[in-house]
Amino acid sequence: MTDEEKKKKKREYMKLWRTSHPKEYSEYLKQRRLANLEKYREYGRKYYYANHGKRKECIKKGKLARKMRVFANYGGKCSYDGCTETDIDVMELHHANLDGFKRREEEGGVNGGMWGWVERNNFPADIIMVCANHHLKIHAMARRVAERKIQ
Ligand SMILES: [Zn+2]
Repeated sequence: MTDEEKKKKKREYMKLWRTSHPKEYSEYLKQRRLANLEKYREYGRKYYYANHGKRKECIKKGKLARKMRVFANYGGKCSYDGCTETDIDVMELHHANLDGFKRREEEGGVNGGMWGWVERNNFPADIIMVCANHHLKIHAMARRVAERKIQ
């Protein structure tokens, strides 16, 4: 048997061993990882930076897709009476009961932003989508009411 043939035979045997000893094989991988931790870390770092742009792009695409789903679910327009704004870029989510601050304190952060949060929580009824202008207006009016400048 030539060296090449021996190598090939060993490879085949190892392949068989891996499939017939899954537990031992995973333990072996674990040990190898522990023994070469720095090497694996270095590889991970290299991969992380080499794919940085790609990963960012993926996250961006995912976020936009999610925003578009949420946007569509809220009817694709500002929900302020009479407003016809339909530009997704100017849309914001608003706590209809003006309790955003309290809710964040009680329930913790929304983890990655409101758009993902409302989707994960099946679009709570007290969250509405309004354009940035009307979001400002709603809060300005609420402030005025609180200050009793108007009834
Ligand atoms: Zn509006």
